[in-house]
Amino acid sequence: MISDNLRKVEQEVQKACALASRKREEVTLVAVTKTVDLASTMAIVNQGVTHCAENRVEPFLSKKAAMKDQSNVTWHFIGNLQRRKVKTVINEIDYFHALDSLTLAAEIQKRATRKIRCFIEVNVSGEEAKQGIQPAMLQSFVEELIAYDKIEIVGLMTMAPFHSSEMEQRTIFHQLHMMQQSIAAQKIVNAPCLELSMGMSNDFPIAVEEGATFIRVGSALFKE
Ligand SMILES: *Cc1c(COP(=O)(O)O)cnc(C)c1O
Repeated sequence: MISDNLRKVEQEVQKACALASRKREEVTLVAVTKTVDLASTMAIVNQGVTHCAENRVEPFLSKKAAMKDQSNVTWHFIGNLQRRKVKTVINEIDYFHALDSLTLAAEIQKRATRKIRCFIEVNVSGEEAKQGIQPAMLQSFVEELIAYDKIEIVGLMTMAPFHSSEMEQRTIFHQLHMMQQSIAAQKIVNAPCLELSMGMSNDFPIAVEEGATFIRVGSALFKE
């Protein structure tokens, strides 16, 4: 049941906040609805989780259209976005979590009709299969993005490898937090960089302890 799952996730978020002396309001639970249908997506919204995330263009657009009466939903796009799809999706979303190249940035700049809130995806773990820019490239990437005034760098995003220990997860999330603070301290135009998008079903409590402000949770909310 979605409501039972949500209650458990919520308890774990609160526990992690307490452990880290953080306020619950500092963490936004984003329901990753990419594997579930419209009914389950509406169900989680009706339970009060109004941030939803999708990772594929067509399913996202059809869900959003079907839910147009629910104007309280904030839509996050968390997947790899192909350049040719930017045009159809970028003005439909509230947050984009996977900015990792200048080509993509240039396309967003060209197609956006307003400022787009973006997270830079960083490949902290160094996993080869992972998307995201290398940590060593982050500073220059942020500086190059200053030229794109339609892009607002709201924060950084990462994923820990699926099979990683709690220690590894903690190290990765801590490193992203340090990078976020370093960028934020520079007060760069269009890069406030105050947010940290990190933590999924198997590691969100650790991510919250390490400073996550957006956690992206799918299977823990929607499992049978
Ligand atoms: C699927 C996905 C999630 C959610 O994963 P779960 O393990 O189901 O919680 C979070 N972030 C990204 C980028 C994803 O693709």
